[in-house]
Amino acid sequence: MRKTRFAPHMLSALLLAMIPQAHAAIKSIDEFTDKLNHFPGFYAFYSDPASGKIYLDVDKLSQPFLLQHSLPYGVGSNDIGLDRGQLGSTYLVQFERFGDKVMLRALNTYFRASADNSAEQQSVKEAFASSILNGFKVVAEDDDSVLIDYTPYLLSDVHGVSRTLAARKQGSYSLDASRSATYMPRSKAFMKNTELEAVLTFKGSKPGEYVKQATANPYAVTIHQHHSLIELPDENYQPRAFHPQSGYWSIEHKDYSAPLSESMYVRYIPRHRLNKKDPTAKVSEPVEPIVYYLDPGVPEPVKTALLDGARWWDQAFEAAGYKNAFQVKVLPENADPMDIRYNVIQWVHRATRGWSYGASVIDPRTGEIIKGHVTLGSLRVRQDILIAEALAAPFVKGDEVTAHLHAMALDRIRQLSAHEIGHTLGIAHNFSASVKDRASVMDYPHPLVGMNDQGELDISKGYASGMGEWDTQVIKYGYSDFTAVDESQGLAAILAENKSKGLEFISDADARPKGGAHPTAHLWDNGGDPAAELTRVLDIRRKALARFGLNNIKTGEALSQLEEKLVPLYLFHRYQVESAVKLIGGVDYDYEVRGAQTAKGAQVVGKAQQQAALSALLDTLSPEQLMIPESVLALIPPKAYGEYKTRESIKGRTGLTLDAMALPEVAAQHTLSLLLNPQRLNRLAQQGARNHANLNSDDLLNTVYQHVFQPKAESGMATKLAQRVQFLTAYRLAELGSSDKLAPEVQAQLRYYLSQLVEQYSDDSLFGGSSKADAFDTYLADLVAQYLESGQWPQGFKALPMPPGSPI
Ligand SMILES: [Zn+2]
Repeated sequence: MRKTRFAPHMLSALLLAMIPQAHAAIKSIDEFTDKLNHFPGFYAFYSDPASGKIYLDVDKLSQPFLLQHSLPYGVGSNDIGLDRGQLGSTYLVQFERFGDKVMLRALNTYFRASADNSAEQQSVKEAFASSILNGFKVVAEDDDSVLIDYTPYLLSDVHGVSRTLAARKQGSYSLDASRSATYMPRSKAFMKNTELEAVLTFKGSKPGEYVKQATANPYAVTIHQHHSLIELPDENYQPRAFHPQSGYWSIEHKDYSAPLSESMYVRYIPRHRLNKKDPTAKVSEPVEPIVYYLDPGVPEPVKTALLDGARWWDQAFEAAGYKNAFQVKVLPENADPMDIRYNVIQWVHRATRGWSYGASVIDPRTGEIIKGHVTLGSLRVRQDILIAEALAAPFVKGDEVTAHLHAMALDRIRQLSAHEIGHTLGIAHNFSASVKDRASVMDYPHPLVGMNDQGELDISKGYASGMGEWDTQVIKYGYSDFTAVDESQGLAAILAENKSKGLEFISDADARPKGGAHPTAHLWDNGGDPAAELTRVLDIRRKALARFGLNNIKTGEALSQLEEKLVPLYLFHRYQVESAVKLIGGVDYDYEVRGAQTAKGAQVVGKAQQQAALSALLDTLSPEQLMIPESVLALIPPKAYGEYKTRESIKGRTGLTLDAMALPEVAAQHTLSLLLNPQRLNRLAQQGARNHANLNSDDLLNTVYQHVFQPKAESGMATKLAQRVQFLTAYRLAELGSSDKLAPEVQAQLRYYLSQLVEQYSDDSLFGGSSKADAFDTYLADLVAQYLESGQWPQGFKALPMPPGSPI
């Protein structure tokens, strides 16, 4: 065989000769797009009806713009989280040409150099990785433009649907190209944005429960994915400084040009662009108002409620010196909710009750909100009606229309609409607002109901209406126009005003943890005194439980449905328990910065306050509070034929019939796990040691021990409930005893009480010798003794799961 050999110089000559030929094969854009549909706009594109392909005209190489992915059609499961309207990542990107390829590069916006020195900027650019998101084939070109085939990228899983399904353990899914295509009705180009959409089908095997629940065929999950290519906003937007007490989220980057004496972290608040037409006027119209558009697919009366709640924000903008700055309209027909130009409020359906969200498309460079996108879960309003009806037992005749109870649920929806829009205005949760007369829509509200001695329910104050004092102040911070005055002085004055009004701001990181310490930052609570509110809530619950029965369902409803109505009523106090417990081992603080004022620092909550909370909490463990009335137990049958258990049902140990001990166990376990939380105990040990006037961990353990294990004269179900609480407490102490989260000095205290338990419960003389009557005591003492000896609880036990409570 003859080998052809080229000298190196011959090889390069050959390659050079080939390149013009390759170029010659590339058509001009006009030529290539002759038979295609043209969509002129920010990035113009062409569609080929024959092949279904979309070609993008890249006339701006190496020029940054924003890329947003989203999910116009979702999967429909709260647990999976791929909801209709979900926003994906926002990237600052640019197209770059490499030979016969065009690449889409996402720039790294977190690490920057603010200096003018281009070498300094380049050194940061080279130090941290950017991400090339996709490479495209050039199919045609002109002098100043290249045409790329965008189709493969549009038909790829940019939103990470397969990844999410796998992460939620819903099976292994991959894109099926034969069942995927570009979607022209929602592919459009405008002056400042190009919107492209695709129908994608994911084929999978072994689908999980949630996919099965939500899809037509769980082996083929078909959704839509959307791409928005967005022109960068102009440079007239003024970023506003973040302050930890401002109530806003923070958009952060690190500046490697920062002087050595200053922090490298630059933090802005996210906010919409808003300026006064006349910055010197006290009240002025805005240059451009902020307009939100409501999903036209919301049924009445919810639609009106959502519009009402959304429009509350205009009150806050008025207080900040604007007229008609915040407007809410219904989304026009044919408008695309994913179109980047619309701030939208979507009413999103899912197979099960779930969360609502306020998400935003934010310019990562400045924090400017380009688009607010609110997702409201449609099933929540029904949960509020369920709670109200459970409390009121309104169906005396069986066919009553409970319009007044529905009104409370609609009040909740107004509040929810305002809350989620608040997030899309840049505002964070303020879980300390409810203690000050419900000062913010950005808290999680619990229905504030009353009940008189006749059992009449008072829901007149169920939910607050309108903007709270805090919301008004937050809008002032984020949106006041300081063009004519000094901005930093103006912002400082607003923060000082918050302080003088007694408005506190504490958010998620401090309010959500089970071991949380902040005495006012709670979810789903009411009032300024968590312990007193817990006692009040327990009283309402007891009265409502006492009369729970046939009047809780309508004529024609299966008796077995009483089970799902009982659950939220029985657990009506669950969130107030979470609030009261934070006083124990509590520490009062806020997000202070050093200033002229005296620092508050970190103050341990007073002993009397802690003891009041402890006593209210121990009440939740008493058999009187835990017992389900016999009238209820004797009424609820197993599921009627055609009805079935749901996630909201009671899971028990008695098979088909209602487990009388299940809800009590769940409620007791709730209190015990929060009260006997390792972080709380560790904190108490230190607080008590630092100052004898403080409550200490031994006070807590001793009080719980005395309350739970002291012998009481009970009989029947009360005895069984007391024993169940004893078992749960002993098990919890053992669980803590084996936890690496509990400090050794607290381990020692805990071991002491477990030894006490063995001594007390196995002491025959105390109970008059071993007998059937004290078989439980002997059994428990034996379990604990074995645990103390081996460090392991001798038998398997798993507390029953609590039905999902929030969101409400
Ligand atoms: Zn929220």
